[in-house]
Amino acid sequence: MNSNNSENLQVCSICGVSVTEDGQVNFSDGKPGTRARLYARVCQYTEKLECINREPELIGELTAQDRYETGEDLTIPTFSTSQATN
Ligand SMILES: [Zn+2]
Repeated sequence: MNSNNSENLQVCSICGVSVTEDGQVNFSDGKPGTRARLYARVCQYTEKLECINREPELIGELTAQDRYETGEDLTIPTFSTSQATN
């Protein structure tokens, strides 16, 4: 028995991610996501036709969560409030 399951893995050399047959996107960094998330974060900014993630049918609907991670990925700068001007 061959352990090499022939998963149809697509690799986008433009965005540096791989997409499994069932649509899971493996980012080079971080947790796996969806095509919608990949598109919202990366692919929509590329002008390259070589990008594999440009088909609306496959991408599906973009949600706000695809665009913005709620706090998780964001580094919010902390400002010093020690200088109070009372
Ligand atoms: Zn891409």
